[in-house]
Amino acid sequence: MQLRPDDLLLVVDIQLDFCPGGALAVTDGDSIIPPINQLATRFQHVVLTQDWHPADHLSFASQHPGHQPYDTIETSYGPQTLWPDHCVQGSPGAQFHPALDIPNPSLILRKGIHREVDSYSAFYENDHQTPTGLADWVRDRGIQRIFVAGLALDFCVRYTAADGAGCGFKVLVIEDACRPVNLPGSLDATHKQFRSLGLKPVSTAEVLSTN
Ligand SMILES: [Zn+2]
Repeated sequence: MQLRPDDLLLVVDIQLDFCPGGALAVTDGDSIIPPINQLATRFQHVVLTQDWHPADHLSFASQHPGHQPYDTIETSYGPQTLWPDHCVQGSPGAQFHPALDIPNPSLILRKGIHREVDSYSAFYENDHQTPTGLADWVRDRGIQRIFVAGLALDFCVRYTAADGAGCGFKVLVIEDACRPVNLPGSLDATHKQFRSLGLKPVSTAEVLSTN
């Protein structure tokens, strides 16, 4: 595999709340930061996403009396998993992890900014209708291949990869540069969806060995 100047590295949600010690910590979430820093040096286009919720966001269990984190509720757009309060706009936990060393990203995309709808995907909010604008941004630059890494594999990376493929881009998930939340069944469902979409994982070593 040869990297091309128009390839994009999409780095999902490397934020303090998703790393050990954070409000919605992903096991070993910070362990993928060094390889991501290394990967980013090989790409001319790097996009960072940042989960960025209002304090009363609908995805927070605290907004639904009687519910606990990881319960599922029905919303106007379908089922929604409830989470601990996390990545509140402007809070310390919403900041990028300080070890993330990508000095010049092409774009920082904030998602989940609307109170009434969550956004796992970097392309569409969870109603699967409201675009974030990323697809047009990618198309305008003539980008065709998107390499995805980050947190968490079975939620924001999963839906970003699936929507990217749905938008017609060639998506390659760098799976060893991702970590899952690992709710019951979530990782299996992710791999099943990737297989059904024909998304083959690549490794950090494969990508770094390309040039
Ligand atoms: Zn969130």
